[in-house]
Amino acid sequence: MTSPKPKSSTQNLKKSIPAPARRKPAFRSAYTKAELEEIFRRFSIQRPEPKGELEHVNPFTLVVAVALSAQATDAGVNKATRALFKVADTPQKMLELGEEKVRDYIKTIGLYRNKAKNVIALSRMLVDDFGGEVPKTREELVRLPGVGRKTANVVMSMAFGIPTIAVDTHIFRIGNRIRLAPGKTPDEVEEKLEKVIPKHYLYHAHHWLILHGRYCCKARRPECERCVIADICKSPEKSCDVPAPLVELPPQMIGAAD
Ligand code: SF4
Repeated sequence: MTSPKPKSSTQNLKKSIPAPARRKPAFRSAYTKAELEEIFRRFSIQRPEPKGELEHVNPFTLVVAVALSAQATDAGVNKATRALFKVADTPQKMLELGEEKVRDYIKTIGLYRNKAKNVIALSRMLVDDFGGEVPKTREELVRLPGVGRKTANVVMSMAFGIPTIAVDTHIFRIGNRIRLAPGKTPDEVEEKLEKVIPKHYLYHAHHWLILHGRYCCKARRPECERCVIADICKSPEKSCDVPAPLVELPPQMIGAAD
């Protein structure tokens, strides 16, 4: 019988010395500071007061609307919530309405059964744990059933004026396509955007990017000939170098409801 080979001294050494912690390479934007400033300055002229397209009457109805909007269009959510919020615009009233009736109001929205469950569960938690008020911090908001980081960011920004970037499908696409904040996950894109967006533009940047993605830098084919940053954009998909005239856009492209 052969005895096991003694481990070499280098093997032992390798085990005893911990591998050096791998540092993430520092993120360097594809854009200069001046270019970043100019991109957001132009967005601010196009849409001086951008608005979200989800209808709501208070922070509670905003939480519900955002939670319902996962994998659904804002227009579809608005159609369902207009009637729902007339009868239930507080967590208490939502609980009184009950899951079955909530389900009836929102049955035109995808995944409505699960969403109705979450609406009731989050209303209950708001009443039981938060005195019926929507909390302001991300840590508290993500405790609510059906509320993830993206929903929490939207609520913090739109209901409480705390600047955050909620990375939806449009922002994720733009961050990567134009190399503004490339990332494999929404969290990575969010982290990079918060670094590159000039601080004084951060509050509106969330809506500017969503609306730019929805109406101009579209998923299938970006409409570069209508884009005000076509001369600065560094996207390999870009089809035009001449920026569109820089003017304020009509209300239906600012964030009016459907
Ligand atoms: S130039 Fe084209 S690709 Fe670049 S941001 Fe504008 S629409 Fe998007």
